[in-house]
Amino acid sequence: MVPYQITTFKQSSAHEHAPALILSWTRSNMAQAQVWTLRKHFQGFPKNTDFELKEEKLPEPQNGEVLLEAVFLSVDPYMRPYSRVQMKEGDVMIGQQVARVIQSKNLKFPVGSHVTTHCGWRTHYLSNGSDLVLVLPEWPKNLPLSLALGAIGMPGLTALYGLEEVCQIKSGETLLVNAAAGAVGIIVGQIAKLKGCKVVGCAGSEDKVAFLKQLGFDEAFNYKTVRSLEEALKKAAPDGYDCYFENVGGHFSSVVMPQMREFGRIAVCGSISMYNDTEPQKGPYVHPEMIFKQLRMEGFLVHRWPHKHPESLKRLLAWQQQGKLQWREHVTEGFVNMPAAFMGMLKGDNIGKAVVKA
Ligand code: NDP
Repeated sequence: MVPYQITTFKQSSAHEHAPALILSWTRSNMAQAQVWTLRKHFQGFPKNTDFELKEEKLPEPQNGEVLLEAVFLSVDPYMRPYSRVQMKEGDVMIGQQVARVIQSKNLKFPVGSHVTTHCGWRTHYLSNGSDLVLVLPEWPKNLPLSLALGAIGMPGLTALYGLEEVCQIKSGETLLVNAAAGAVGIIVGQIAKLKGCKVVGCAGSEDKVAFLKQLGFDEAFNYKTVRSLEEALKKAAPDGYDCYFENVGGHFSSVVMPQMREFGRIAVCGSISMYNDTEPQKGPYVHPEMIFKQLRMEGFLVHRWPHKHPESLKRLLAWQQQGKLQWREHVTEGFVNMPAAFMGMLKGDNIGKAVVKA
C-alpha cells in the first residue's frame, strides 16, 4: 500500500475541553487517500481495465468526525451484481472494511479504536460516525480483526440466519451447501454440525474438499471433477436433502432440486455461477419439484435481521472461542491488489474468507 502521507501533527488547543480518550490533533496538510473506482461496468468476468486507482484529498475532521485508516478490506461476490444496480462508472467500489481511527473528534470513536464500515475500497475515510460499528468490545487481543469481515462478521451472520431463520434447520436433518469452502460455506457447514445435522459440501478443488473434511463435514466432493453431479449428490445422501443452502444457482441448482426431500427448505443465499453471465441462463424450471415435494424456497439478505446482529456476533465469537467454529482466510497483501483479490475470489482462489490487508 502506498503509505498514508502523515505530515506534522501537533496538539490542538481547540479541544482542551475534550475528554482524554479523544486525542486532539491537527494537521498542517490534508490526508491523502487512495481509492479504487469502477472505471467501466463489468461485461462478463471483471478485467483489470474495469478498475481505476485514484487519489483523494481528505479534509481535517470537524466536530463529530473521525479519520479512518483501512486495516483489512473485504472482497465479496455481491460486489459483482451490485456494481450493476448500485453503481455508476467512476464511483468508488463498494465494500466493507475494518479500519482504525487515526484522528477523532467524536467521543464514541477514540483514536486507536477499530470499526467496521461500508465505505468502499479506500485507504482512508472521513466519517461523521453514523455509518460506523465498533468492533465488539470483548474481541480477544489474539484474534485477527479480519474476522470481523468473515466468520464473526457479515458472512458468519449470513450462514447463521440462512440456517436458523430461513431453513429452520433441525437436528437429524441432512443439509447440502455449495461454494462450501468459502466464507459463508465453511460457517454454514460447521453450524449445521453443531446443530446435529448431516452435512454435505461441494467445492471446486481437492484442497478445498480436504479442508471441508477436516472441518467435520460428513461428505464433501469436488463438483468440477465428479463424473456426474447428480450421482455424487445421490451417493453423498441417498435419502435426499432436507435443507439446501444455495450459494451457486444455475445448473447446479437444477440438479439438486429433484434430490430434495418432501417439505425440504431451500435458503437462496447466492447464485455466483450466474453473476458474470452476459446472457441470462434458461431453466429447467423448479415448479414440478416445488409442488410435488411441497418445498419451500426463500431468498434472503443478511440485512433482514439487523436487530439480531449484536447477539448473533457474540454467539459466533463464543463458538469460535470454545473451539467449535474454525475459520480460514485467504489474505492478499496490499491495497493496490484489491482488483486482483476480487477477481481471484470470483475464480475460486480462496479457501475461507477472501480479504485484503491494506
Ligand atoms: P466465497 O468465499 O464462497 O467465494 C466465492 C466462491 O464461489 C469461490 O471461492 C468459488 O469456489 C465459488 N464459485 C465461483 N464461481 C463458481 C461457479 N461458477 N460455480 C460454483 N461455484 C463457484 O464467497 P462468499 O462465501 O462470500 O459468498 C458465497 C455466496 O453467498 C455468494 O453467492 C454470495 O453472493 C452469497 N452471499 C449472500 C449474502 C446474502 O445476504 N444473501 C451475503 C453474503 C454472501 P469453488 O472453488 O468452490 O468454485
